[in-house]
Amino acid sequence: MNEEYWKAIVECNGAFDGRFYYGVASTRIYCLPSCRSKTPKKEHTRIFATAEEARKSGFRACKRCRPDYPIRYGPDGEMAIRVTELIESEYDKPLTLDRLAEVLHTSSSHLHRTFRRVTGMTPAEYLRNIRIQTAVEKLKEPGLNITDIALATGFRTASHFTTVFRESMGYSPSEYRQLHKYAAANAVEKRRPI
Ligand SMILES: [Zn+2]
Repeated sequence: MNEEYWKAIVECNGAFDGRFYYGVASTRIYCLPSCRSKTPKKEHTRIFATAEEARKSGFRACKRCRPDYPIRYGPDGEMAIRVTELIESEYDKPLTLDRLAEVLHTSSSHLHRTFRRVTGMTPAEYLRNIRIQTAVEKLKEPGLNITDIALATGFRTASHFTTVFRESMGYSPSEYRQLHKYAAANAVEKRRPI
């Protein structure tokens, strides 16, 4: 660990925002150096050069400092933020690139190009990530069946949901649910006093 970077994390130094990102291995969340959340343990902290690198290593963006928000790109960044907001509020609907472009009064090719340049992802990839993240949370609720979850997260059918989920997570939704149940049961087991 670079001492200069560690100092920036401890001091929440905004001057380092954009120069590096840090991830916390125990939570799988990544942050901007300026993030005001609790300082992580040094041994759990990992440094990334870009937000994309953090994402590719399986880290999710912190909800507090929003390291995935492209704040330093002027009007293009603002457009990208509007796209992420639209996707986050309408992911459960049949969202298309044309629909996004229409709402933002621009062409779909300009929107696609700008979003990709600013965030390193296409709007479709961002949409898929949001749908999968939401589905993961819903799978932890035992009352919901797979079809309901598929429709509530914007997938056309349960089988389309299963295909996309497997591609992204390496498990089918039912397998993921079983694994989560097993992990949760194990955690309860461990907490039980001797
Ligand atoms: Zn953060």
